[in-house]
Amino acid sequence: MKLSKSELIRDIALQRYEKLFDLAIKNIKSNPSLSRRYIEILIKISQRTRVRIPRNLKYFICKSCHSLLYPGITSRIRLSPRRSSHIIVTCLICGRIKRYPISKKK
Ligand SMILES: [Zn+2]
Repeated sequence: MKLSKSELIRDIALQRYEKLFDLAIKNIKSNPSLSRRYIEILIKISQRTRVRIPRNLKYFICKSCHSLLYPGITSRIRLSPRRSSHIIVTCLICGRIKRYPISKKK
């Protein structure tokens, strides 16, 4: 099966995302600025290729400062007991707060 050019670009971009994300995780403790650099490269690739960053990775990237939101190191994760359940992720680098609703299982 032959892949079209856009499929190929998507494939390569997704592979890069995973690799860069992995490197960002590995360096978060020892070298946070390098870790952020990897995330910035990841974002740059997504802007250039227009391949969306997968959701599971996006959850861990701060939109404001591009830090990897690593629980206990660069982020604080809380459950909101009020209203409908929410997960609140706070970036400890820039203070930005993200909220995710928890979808209830039927
Ligand atoms: Zn941030």
